[in-house]
Amino acid sequence: MSIDPKTYTPPDGLLAGRVILITGANDGIGRALALAAARLGGQVVLHGRNTAGLEKVYDEIEAIDGAPRPSIAVLDLANANAEAYQSLAASLDDEFGRLDGLVVNAAILGERFAIEQYDAVLWQRVMHVNLTTAFALTQICLPLLRRADDPSVVYTTSSVGRRGKAFWGAYAVSKFGIEGLSQVLADEHRHSALRSNCVNPGATRTKMRLAAYPAEDRSVLKGPDEVLAPYLYLLGPDSRGVTGQSVDAQ
Ligand code: NAP
Repeated sequence: MSIDPKTYTPPDGLLAGRVILITGANDGIGRALALAAARLGGQVVLHGRNTAGLEKVYDEIEAIDGAPRPSIAVLDLANANAEAYQSLAASLDDEFGRLDGLVVNAAILGERFAIEQYDAVLWQRVMHVNLTTAFALTQICLPLLRRADDPSVVYTTSSVGRRGKAFWGAYAVSKFGIEGLSQVLADEHRHSALRSNCVNPGATRTKMRLAAYPAEDRSVLKGPDEVLAPYLYLLGPDSRGVTGQSVDAQ
């Protein structure tokens, strides 16, 4: 990788003509990425479970001069069934006929408990929302991604998904799974244009970080706008051929 994804400066129009689905786009890093991608000409599909939150981001994008009008895809990852995924793929197919980028960003923290105390039902919920739905979305989107000339899948990982840390429980284990999913997908597509990579945003001032570290000084944290360079790099043409990697934003 000759370009450093951390310090990448996206050129104007980087994502023009690209249809990009971003999960968890109503808030935090997903929202910031949706706005940045739209500013760079991307045709953004805003996914989330909270219609009002998504409509706010939709309005913010509509107010950006020259940005393509976004779309909204409402799907609660905690309880979406197979038909809901199929209907999402069918509407993407109807509207665009392909997908150039998929950013799997939505996730939940769960609770910070030792393994011995970790609630089994919560464990399943975190693994489901953070990992199983990433698989389901990837699977349903693959036929659409294959129709794009330069398709890119970007998963959101975490430092606790590379080196386990006490009390991070199912969240950490789900992120190890995300790293694995990305590597398996990358290897399966090593002879095609489709690339698959992970981004670790690092400590970022969002509601998830607040839940994990309620007492910390938030003024020293990077804002969601400040961790986007690797995502934009991986979504645009400058990262052609880069696959199976896991990169840091900080
Ligand atoms: P966030 O503000 O809490 O955003 C999480 C997003 O996921 C929200 O849009 C949330 O929607 C969505 N989501 C959660 N459960 C969902 C469900 N059942 N169905 C649909 N959407 C759901 O947190 P963030 O910090 O931006 O997190 C973004 C990604 O970065 C996550 O993958 C996280 O693990 C990763 N990350 C964050 C940090 C950090 O320091 N912030 C560090 C490392 C990795 P609602 O608003 O409706 O809940």
